[in-house]
Amino acid sequence: MRKLNDYGKEIGIGAAIVVLVFLLYVGLPPAIIVMGLLMFGAIFLFTRGRGGLAMGTAGKRAATRKPEFLTFEDIGGQEQPKRELTEALDFLVYRDKIEKLGIRPLKGILLTGPPGTGKTLLAKAAAQYTNSAFVAASGSEFVEMYVGVGAGRIRDLFKEARQQATKLKRDNAIIFIDEIDGIGGKRDGGQHREYDQTLNQLLTEMDGVQGDESVRILLIAATNRKELLDPALLRPGRFDRHIQVDLPDKSAREHILKLHARNKPLSEEASLAKVAEETFGFSGAQLESVMNEAAIYAMREKSETLNNVHLSQAIDKVMMGERMDRETTREERERVAIHELGHAIVAESVRPESVAQVSLTPRGQALGYVRHHPRQDSYLYSLDVLEQQIMIALGGAVAEEIFYGGRSTGSRGDFDQATSIVRTMIESGMSDLGIVHPEAITQEQWSGENAKILDGLTIRTRELLGKHKPTFERLLSILIREETLSGEQLRDQIQQAA
Ligand code: ADP
Repeated sequence: MRKLNDYGKEIGIGAAIVVLVFLLYVGLPPAIIVMGLLMFGAIFLFTRGRGGLAMGTAGKRAATRKPEFLTFEDIGGQEQPKRELTEALDFLVYRDKIEKLGIRPLKGILLTGPPGTGKTLLAKAAAQYTNSAFVAASGSEFVEMYVGVGAGRIRDLFKEARQQATKLKRDNAIIFIDEIDGIGGKRDGGQHREYDQTLNQLLTEMDGVQGDESVRILLIAATNRKELLDPALLRPGRFDRHIQVDLPDKSAREHILKLHARNKPLSEEASLAKVAEETFGFSGAQLESVMNEAAIYAMREKSETLNNVHLSQAIDKVMMGERMDRETTREERERVAIHELGHAIVAESVRPESVAQVSLTPRGQALGYVRHHPRQDSYLYSLDVLEQQIMIALGGAVAEEIFYGGRSTGSRGDFDQATSIVRTMIESGMSDLGIVHPEAITQEQWSGENAKILDGLTIRTRELLGKHKPTFERLLSILIREETLSGEQLRDQIQQAA
């Protein structure tokens, strides 16, 4: 990666010669000039050692980050991707066997999946597993306005990988390109020449990688959008191994949490299993953040260890954003409390034991919120479950109607959620429209079906909450006083009323 900075040495020498000629010209004695030059040289060398005047190394360093000592054991969950990856990597490890059988070398592995799921970690662990040099770059670094710059950077990246391996006396080098869609998007026939040139250069370099070279190069690329990639990249002999890296399930979440708890003092009662249960849909990066935030909460409280309260606050922070110091009036707080209790009471009624906490703490955009114990990690939903979800979403607005006779703007997000579930129901053939192609449904049919389903479920929600009016009033005073209400407190009160 040779940027303007990288030419610093040449520019420096040129400038020194010009100055020298000038000084001789004005008649300064040569002895003084030599002394001056020596002093300048000494200062230059001294600061270079400390990275002060060293021009151009920052860019290079970014591309040749050495992997920290990281193995597959340091990656939580992701058992399937780890297995598939090590299988593929054995092509590098057992190079002789592969050559004997005449198998063509593996050149590219594509890791696909949402951000923060550990794709970069897998690439680093791959370098460790295969004892390879490791060079990393991100697709966005190659997007430049000037034609040819991106292509030049690709060439440099491969050169850098070979040099790095030679320097470290390794047989292999792994080049990791994150967000490959930045360069490997579908070519569009000449409108973006720079973009095309970068991609072409990458293809050329990949094709140029031969099995008999002293340093064998393997590319690992990551993307969340495989469908955007140019088919030429995915052809055999290029990125022909695809490994899906998904969000972790419950046991994987616990594993990841344990890994990030290794350097943190947990209290006796702290339960990472419970945190794993309550963090459905979190990525590895978010789980890492939960552990870190919990430690920060512990520090703020001057506590020696991380306890369940710190962990629970940290989940809220990562899920909903930082706690806001928003001034709210008493009326507003009461209304928010009624709204949230509406969600929580419906949730407890249709799915007992499902509420983890109700809170009146403003976080991010929300003035209050209910944290649910997500159901078993499930990926398929029946009609019943979808209807329950809609009722829980409508619970807030319906509770406001019961107590205040009208709705507020606080229900906007809930309605978005409800209508998007209705859409899923219609598209899955669960509505009265039967099995239909979404494009064949007219606007009137959409809105008619949407209104019918939501009206029916609003009536059911109103009936359900109507039976709980006394419970509401008791819970309201606790919630206003304490700001949070645990799932257990909520269940106690509902049971007492029954
Ligand atoms: P990606 O490349 O998929 O966007 P990264 O590999 O960069 O994600 O992960 C970002 C951070 O999240 C890591 O540095 C690590 O702290 C944490 N992380 C993500 N997935 C895992 C995992 N499976 N095990 C442990 N930590 C993880």
